[in-house]
Amino acid sequence: MKIAIYPGSFDPITNGHLDILERAMKLFDKVIITIARNSTKVPMFTETERLEMIRKVVRSYKKVEVDCFDGLLVDYARRKNATAIVRGLRAISDFEYELQMALMNRKLSDGLVTVFLMPNEKYTYLNSSIVREIARLNGDVSRFVPVVVLKALKKKARSAKR
Ligand code: ADP
Repeated sequence: MKIAIYPGSFDPITNGHLDILERAMKLFDKVIITIARNSTKVPMFTETERLEMIRKVVRSYKKVEVDCFDGLLVDYARRKNATAIVRGLRAISDFEYELQMALMNRKLSDGLVTVFLMPNEKYTYLNSSIVREIARLNGDVSRFVPVVVLKALKKKARSAKR
């Protein structure tokens, strides 16, 4: 069984993330989409909120498991018997950081392969922080995120105004 890990902040999950997830599902028997807990970023959504949104969005995907992890990604991958890490590459700007991470992870765990997948061109400019920013300013993000996320963003925007 070929298992891959798709790690990230997913704050919140966007259609770009889903594009990558769907591509990974074609390559692997199981894909574990997992929220990195020890990220230095201060999230808009709590871990529980992000987990809940992802779970709802991927509910019909049979090959996908949703999880969170602490500590080193390579250790988590080993515990999950995964042989690959999936990451999305949108632009050259992603490349330097991603290359560094991929090479470091390979040093830490030789058998673990990082697989980079390119999303549909229409998602190359999309990231969670832009979505958060537009939503905060009451812009329309309905093309960029699943309906569940859209609702959650609207709720956050409303509660921030209070
Ligand atoms: P991280 O904090 O680990 O970068 P993100 O949630 O921002 O977490 O991203 C997780 C992964 O998804 C990364 O590999 C990132 O490049 C990829 N990704 C994010 N947005 C997109 C998108 N629009 N298209 C393709 N890949 C994306």
